[in-house]
Amino acid sequence: MKRCFTADLQVRSVQELRPERLESLRLEALLLDVDCTLKPYRDEEVGPEVAAWLDELCAAGVRLCLVSNGRGPRIERFAGRLGLPFVAKACKPFPFGCREGVKKLGSDPTRTAMVGDQLFADIMAGRLAGLFTILVTPLHPEQEPWYTRLKRPLERCFVRWEC
Ligand SMILES: [Mg+2]
Repeated sequence: MKRCFTADLQVRSVQELRPERLESLRLEALLLDVDCTLKPYRDEEVGPEVAAWLDELCAAGVRLCLVSNGRGPRIERFAGRLGLPFVAKACKPFPFGCREGVKKLGSDPTRTAMVGDQLFADIMAGRLAGLFTILVTPLHPEQEPWYTRLKRPLERCFVRWEC
């Protein structure tokens, strides 16, 4: 049970996941949450640092797919601007969206990680899909909708419990 709420790795930002580090973790593909992971909730675009990081990973041959609980048209526009495949309305913490992402990439699930800012959505979904899981400190969580902010204090308890 506890395993479901425990990420394999915690980072402060996605930019810490450099190609060399992913290689040492034997990861070939990343499923990426969108809101508060790649960009603040209200922003339409990623910042220049995240854009450069995505370019670096693509150049290194790391396969990427967005897996978001956000609605189709918004995530489709965002993915289109980045030129990345996507799964919208992924219903995390259920594992279906992650499984669909793995299928889209044709990656080995044991060498694929789910990267996201929410323990009770991204990490649980990744765990249930049998993936490596990476928890990222959320970008501007104060912009999140109320239903997401409600979960944050409980998430912090679980993160402390892991340490
Ligand atoms: Mg998120």
